[in-house]
Amino acid sequence: MTATASPAVPTIDRHRMLIGGEWVEATGGATFESENPFLGAAWAEVPRAAPEDVDRAVKAARKAFRDPSWGGLTPTARGHLLRRLADLITREADRLAEIETRDNGKLITEMRAQLRYIPQWFHYFGGLADKIEGRVIPIDKPGMVNFTREEPLGVVAAITPWNSPLMLATWKLAPALAAGNTVVWKPSEFSSVSALMFGRLFAEAGFPPGVVNIVTGFGSEIGESLVGHPQVAKVAFTGGDRTGQSVYELAARSIKPVTLELGGKSANIVFADAQLDNAVRGVVSGIFAATGQTCIAGSRALVHRSIHDQFVEKLVALGRTARMGDPLLDTTQVGPITTRPQYRKILDYIEIAKGEGATAVLGGGPATRPECGAGWFVEPTVFAGVNPAMRIAREEVFGPVLSVIPFDDEEEAIAIANDTQYGLAAGVWTQSMRTAFHLSHRLEAGTVWVNTYRATSYLSPFGGYKRSGIGRESGLTAIREYLQEKSIWIDT
Ligand code: NAD
Repeated sequence: MTATASPAVPTIDRHRMLIGGEWVEATGGATFESENPFLGAAWAEVPRAAPEDVDRAVKAARKAFRDPSWGGLTPTARGHLLRRLADLITREADRLAEIETRDNGKLITEMRAQLRYIPQWFHYFGGLADKIEGRVIPIDKPGMVNFTREEPLGVVAAITPWNSPLMLATWKLAPALAAGNTVVWKPSEFSSVSALMFGRLFAEAGFPPGVVNIVTGFGSEIGESLVGHPQVAKVAFTGGDRTGQSVYELAARSIKPVTLELGGKSANIVFADAQLDNAVRGVVSGIFAATGQTCIAGSRALVHRSIHDQFVEKLVALGRTARMGDPLLDTTQVGPITTRPQYRKILDYIEIAKGEGATAVLGGGPATRPECGAGWFVEPTVFAGVNPAMRIAREEVFGPVLSVIPFDDEEEAIAIANDTQYGLAAGVWTQSMRTAFHLSHRLEAGTVWVNTYRATSYLSPFGGYKRSGIGRESGLTAIREYLQEKSIWIDT
C-alpha cells in the first residue's frame, strides 16, 4: 500500500477516550491539540484528562478485574481474545500505521513494518495465557501439601512515550492481559491518536468493558494520580530516565512493583577486522533510523583508530545520501522530529557539542531543504573528534546525532562503552568469534548485537542495565512481570 502525501492543511478530528467501555470526554470537556510534526500544525483534538478521569478509569479497571466476565474466564478463553485482537490489528495495520505517522512523524515504511509485527506479541502471549503453571513443592512437613498458583496483580498502569506508541504499549498490554490483569493505559500527550483508534479493537475482539481503559492527557497533570492511585497494583512505564525515576519514587511510596524501560547512550563498537561496509550501514541505521528517536539509538560509534578515518569517510558518504521529507512517502528515509521541545533540545545539544570542540563532519543544524516544508527537521549529524568526557558522548540526545570516538585496543573500547550511566544496548562489529563472545559478556547492556543492530522480537527479552531500566519486556520473562506467586498449604 502506498500512502498519499500529507495535505497542506490538515482537518482537525476530535476524539474521545475509553473508560469502562464508554467513549467519553474529559471532565468539563477539556481538550488539547495533537500536532503533525511534518506540517508543524494541529491535526487532532484529544480529551485532556484530569485526576478525576484517572480515578474513574482505575475504578472501572478494578471492577472489570473482579467481574466474572473477565476474572472468571478460563486462561484458554483469555488467550482466544488476545489472538482475535491480533487478527483485528492485522486487518487495521495500514490504517493504524498512517495515523501513527501523521501523529508522530515516523516513517510510514517503519510504522507499517511495526504494525505488521505487533500482532505477533498478542499471538505469542495469547498462546502463553494457558501455560502459566504453579508448582507442587516437596514440603518437609509430614501430612502437609504445599503448592503454588500464579495470579494476576490487578490493575496495571501502562504509561508510554511518543516514539513507537503502539509497539511500546503492546509490549505491556499483551503480557498484562494474558496474565489476567486489567489495564489503564496513558499514551504520550504527543501521540494519543493511534492509541484511541487501537482502543476500538478491544470491544470488537470481545474484551469485556473496563478491561482496557485509555486516558489521554499530560503526564504532569495526571501521571501522579495514576501511579499513586491506591487501586493500581503495578506500573509499567517507558520513557525518559528522569520521569522514570519520579514514577519509581512515587510507586515506592505505596510499594508497587514497576517495570521501567528508560533511556540509553548505546555504543556501536567497530573493530579493525569488521566488514567495513556492513558496519557503516549498521551504524548509520542504528543512529538515523526513526531520526534517532529510539531508546536503542547507537549514538556513540567507537571505532578502532587504524580504520577511524576511512570509517568516518564512508559514514559521511552514506549519511549524505539520506532522503529527508514527508514521512508519509515510501521513498523518505529520514523524517521530522516528533515534538517541538525535542527539536529544540537536539539543536541545543548540537551547539553544546560544537562548544565542547567536537567537529560536525556531517550536518550539524536544522534541515532547511525544500522537501522538509514547515516540519521540525534536523540534518543527520556526525561529530568526529569527540572525547568520552564530553556531554555529547554522555547524555541522551534522542535525535539524529552520532558521536564518533576512536579507541586503541579492546580493553579501552570496553571501558569507554561501559563508562555511562545507561545500559540499554550495544553493538559489536567484528569477524572474530573470540571478540564477539568476549565483548558480549563484558558489555554492561541488556541487549548486545553482533554484526547487526536494532533487531527485536516478541520471543526475546528486552530491557536495560543500570539507569536504562528495571525488568524485561517480551519473551517468556515478560509474563512474570505481571504475575504474583501464591503459596497454598493444606494439612491433609
Ligand atoms: P517522557 O518520560 O517525557 O514521557 C513518557 C510518558 O510518561 C508519557 O506518557 C508522559 O506523559 C508520562 N509522564 C510524564 N511525566 C509523568 C509523571 N510525573 N508521572 C507519570 N507519567 C508521566 O518520555 P518521552 O519524551 O515521551 O519519550 C522519550 C524517552 O523515552 C527517551 O528517554 C527514550 O530513551 C525513552 N524510551 C525508552 C524505551 C525503552 O524501551 N527503553 C523505548 C522508547 C523510548
